[in-house]
Amino acid sequence: MSGNPFETALVTLREASEIAGIDKDVVRILSVPKRIFEFTIPMKMDDGRLEIFTAYRVHYNDALGQVKNGTRFVPDLDLDTVKALGFWMTIKHAVGGIPAGGGKGGIRVDPGKLSEDELERLTRAFIRKLPMKGAWVDIPGADIGTSAKTQAWMLDEYEEIMGFHSPAAINDKPADVSGTLGSAEATGTGVFHITMEAVRDAGISPGAAVAIQGFGSVGSVAAQLLHQEGFKVVAVGDIYGGIYSKDGIDVPGLLEYVDRTGKVPGFPGGERVSNQELLELDCDILIPAAVQSVITSDNAARVKARLVIEAANGPVTPEGDKILQEMGVHIVPDVLANCGSAIVCSFERIQGLTDDYWDLERVMARLKERMAKAYNETTAAAAKRNTSLRNAAWINALEKLSRAIKARGWV
Ligand code: NAD
Repeated sequence: MSGNPFETALVTLREASEIAGIDKDVVRILSVPKRIFEFTIPMKMDDGRLEIFTAYRVHYNDALGQVKNGTRFVPDLDLDTVKALGFWMTIKHAVGGIPAGGGKGGIRVDPGKLSEDELERLTRAFIRKLPMKGAWVDIPGADIGTSAKTQAWMLDEYEEIMGFHSPAAINDKPADVSGTLGSAEATGTGVFHITMEAVRDAGISPGAAVAIQGFGSVGSVAAQLLHQEGFKVVAVGDIYGGIYSKDGIDVPGLLEYVDRTGKVPGFPGGERVSNQELLELDCDILIPAAVQSVITSDNAARVKARLVIEAANGPVTPEGDKILQEMGVHIVPDVLANCGSAIVCSFERIQGLTDDYWDLERVMARLKERMAKAYNETTAAAAKRNTSLRNAAWINALEKLSRAIKARGWV
């Protein structure tokens, strides 16, 4: 398979469409983005030099509703990556029951090399120059290299251009400027709810042993909630390596330690393990919540967990997936397991449109409801087709997209 992310996305689309019997013309529509914007942003740097940045925004498909999602500021951004990410968001919204299309965008830039002033000017220029935007068209959110801070600048710039307030036009902004509560912990909390649903189906009892790779915004929140629920978090890792304790790690203590030192290894309550060893430890549930392609044909046969929750995007390669399936491991796919932030972003838009801002309890109660619904829909599709949850999630999404595309008369 090619290393081109968009080509990879198209292979998955073709395979899932084949299983689901999706109309060929629907597949043709889903194989191309609806709109692509590529533009340049010339900007005077603090030292007076002119830099010209390349920016992208892809509206991949909007059959289910206005486009929304992340804005990535990274030095190696290219159009195929943005197209692939926009396509994944189209699928994730459909899986999560979110009435929105998939989009993605960003700027080819290393934000770490910009001053605060330069970052603000570049962020404002991105939203100014973006040709189509707004609450009913395209709602940019945060992604790698962007944050609540950049989203507040985007909102401010957008509202200055338009001459009126429009809180629903930008996502992932701080609650202080009409964002939503709960956005920072949305994905980790969603991963927790999905795990609770999946343990029941996998016949795993509460108190079971969990290993988590990645202790960032997703992994740390999931670890905390599972620990509170009585699960034994036996291993946790970050980019520097992992720790293991067969009796369970003191997760609140670890959070405090990582806050102070910035690293998981070195925490006194566990023995050191490598990131590779962590994936192969004796545990019931494995949650890869760091990076892509960590479970492959090389190590899948040594995974001992009975349940794998894909909190990260694409942590199991297709070859690794095949081996795990043959071993009878339950796998909850990324498009389902980590759609919590996409769901909470849609809550953010609803709050911005209605001027009715929810308390954290309401956000979290609704997130739990929506995660359970997405899980139940996917397991029902898996049972009906006698297929894996991964195939079922894709089939479910493609059927929803197909119905919307046909109802709109596009085919
Ligand atoms: P983060 O940057 O907050 O944390 C990433 C964690 O993974 C850190 O602990 C880091 O040290 C660790 N890590 C990085 N490289 C590693 C490696 N090679 N081996 C082991 N550990 C490594 O990121 P996050 O927001 O927690 O996201 C984690 C994953 O979840 C990513 O794959 C991301 O794409 C996916 N995801 C995140 C969200 C979200 O809302 N944050 C939504 C959907 C999917």
